[in-house]
Amino acid sequence: MTTAHAADQLDTITERWTTLADRAGDRPTTTWPPAMGITRLLSEQERQEQAAERLDTAPDAPGPRPAPVDVNILDVMTTIETGLLEAADAIAERVQRPGYRAQTGRGWTDEAHREIALLAMKDAADPRRWKLTGQRTAPDAAEWLAQRLRDQPGPFRPLNETERELVAAVAATAAELLQRTLGDARQRTDIPHPCPMPCGGQLVVEGGDGQPPVVLCEDCGRTWRETEAPGDAA
Ligand SMILES: [Zn+2]
Repeated sequence: MTTAHAADQLDTITERWTTLADRAGDRPTTTWPPAMGITRLLSEQERQEQAAERLDTAPDAPGPRPAPVDVNILDVMTTIETGLLEAADAIAERVQRPGYRAQTGRGWTDEAHREIALLAMKDAADPRRWKLTGQRTAPDAAEWLAQRLRDQPGPFRPLNETERELVAAVAATAAELLQRTLGDARQRTDIPHPCPMPCGGQLVVEGGDGQPPVVLCEDCGRTWRETEAPGDAA
């Protein structure tokens, strides 16, 4: 699992979050137990235990456990968001430099003090900083974490190996959840018209996952895209 790959996974979350939100029909308003979040930086052993646990409860894991058929998208969104926000909070706490403080009473001239105070204000308000309070979203956190993985400049120290691995683990879980949800959401519905080809087979429409819908014949396998009327396809 490379850092570059993890950063790409975070980009995917940023890019596809709106699709996920559209699919859900609304922004998440529920709270959900943080299934994948890190509230603090874990020891190697704790991390392995958690990884094993995650592995064990993965819906696609082998073994006789009830497979979840219908994933609630809002819950998935909240799980992803919680994990990303907690990761960003934990990383920011470690790598984000505190804002400069303008000290008073050091005998500076007024002008010098004004300048320092201005610098301190600008530093504290640096938009590259991760905000620990206020409105924070999953795409915000994904973007910020991707920037940290890519060592982009700002009031931060570079991530160390442990921190990179933690971010990568959260990115991988979040990306997998997102992709599985979007992928699973593609639906297949029968169309009450026979295939216009000699086979006269059953037509179905596939779509609903943000990708262009496609009509296909279950018998002859011909497909039609949205811009073509059935029968026009070669
Ligand atoms: Zn056909």
